[in-house]
Amino acid sequence: MAVMEFRKFLRDLFEGEHRKRILSSPLTYQLVERALKLARGSFPSQASYMMARFALAQTGRAFSRRVPVVWTSAFFPVEIVWGLNLCPFSPEVAAAFLASLGFAEEALDRAEQAGYSRDLCSFHRLIAGAALLGYLPPPAALVASTHLCDGAPLLFQNLAAFFRVPFHVLDVPYRADRDAEAYVAEQLAELWRALADLAERKPEPAGLAEAIQNSNRFRANLLEVNELRCRVPAPVRGSEMLNYLYLFFAGQGSREAAEVFACLAREIGRGEREGKKEERFRILWLHLKPFYKGELMDFIENKSGAVLAFEEMSHVYWPPLSPGDPFPSLARKVLSHFCYKPLEARTATVKMLAEKYRVDGIVHFSHWGCRQSVGGSLMLKDALQRAGWPVLLLDGDCLDARNEATGGILTRVQAFLEILAERKNFRVGERHDHCRN
Ligand code: SF4
Repeated sequence: MAVMEFRKFLRDLFEGEHRKRILSSPLTYQLVERALKLARGSFPSQASYMMARFALAQTGRAFSRRVPVVWTSAFFPVEIVWGLNLCPFSPEVAAAFLASLGFAEEALDRAEQAGYSRDLCSFHRLIAGAALLGYLPPPAALVASTHLCDGAPLLFQNLAAFFRVPFHVLDVPYRADRDAEAYVAEQLAELWRALADLAERKPEPAGLAEAIQNSNRFRANLLEVNELRCRVPAPVRGSEMLNYLYLFFAGQGSREAAEVFACLAREIGRGEREGKKEERFRILWLHLKPFYKGELMDFIENKSGAVLAFEEMSHVYWPPLSPGDPFPSLARKVLSHFCYKPLEARTATVKMLAEKYRVDGIVHFSHWGCRQSVGGSLMLKDALQRAGWPVLLLDGDCLDARNEATGGILTRVQAFLEILAERKNFRVGERHDHCRN
């Protein structure tokens, strides 16, 4: 079975009026696991296959009702949940998965009927709709952090009332000094104890230390992957890396997530990942991508001669964690995100990545309704252009295909690539003249 056939198998399986029953049955995940094994050889790499198996196993576990499921918002330090051996569930990733199977519209419509406005982020609308339709595993608790995504705590609060379960918020100050660190660390310690109580478990420091060590391995392996990605041609496609979202949002603290990136590093290191022979343009990609089946990513990576050499999402911005001092170090991780600071921090990070990965231009995928990423994008663009980088702000939507005008978006990308082509010719000419002189 090839990957395309596997996708079709999933779509057919979940299609139809019994979707809720099929999605929530643990038997479904045993069946899908068998199909996944048959499709193994057609995955682009062993690492992507491992990621799919891990996500599938965790989803089956979440629906099994044998272990308390904790919904965590993107960027919440999920090590806390792994450290108690509970089942973390990232509804943002589930939303992307449902969109990739073509089931976004039903959930988005359901959310809109329930009063969620269309100008909200489609991740949140889709999660709300899918929850109301019964497509997601019922949580024992929800935890959301206030940093980066200000919509998530509000959505999670609503959903906690809907499921009648506790909601915990991690309040993250907009400054990263010692007081802020102590404040966040204290809340994390309380949260850890509260989740342990909920599961009627004794909070074991050894379990948390193990999760922290796994998270450090994840970090180290990802750093290795990122160094190897400096190679030209780019050994991994950025669109593939953006499919590892599950590991970033739900996997940190697990052994499996660390192993996926160890495997990817080995594959690149051994030269098993060959990039395009000819890279016309190397792009640095900011924010996420459309996860539904559309033409944009296919056009960029397969037809235009461009590659996503790197993406902001994969940048390792946090220091190693301390297994002996878990809460302050997790607090430092949360507080060190370069997008949760004055815009200069994001600008400096993007410039550094653009230089490191020797890109020709930068594309900011401006996802509809995302204040955290899009809010400062015009100023970010100005600052980057002043530093000499061509920048495209590409309006679109990661999940809601109704917000994308395909023809228009491709025309804008095409026009941007033409600008890059002119600049490259100019640079080649410049070098040529310089040599002649
Ligand atoms: S895209 Fe932006 S608004 Fe939507 S979930 Fe992510 S951070 Fe939050």
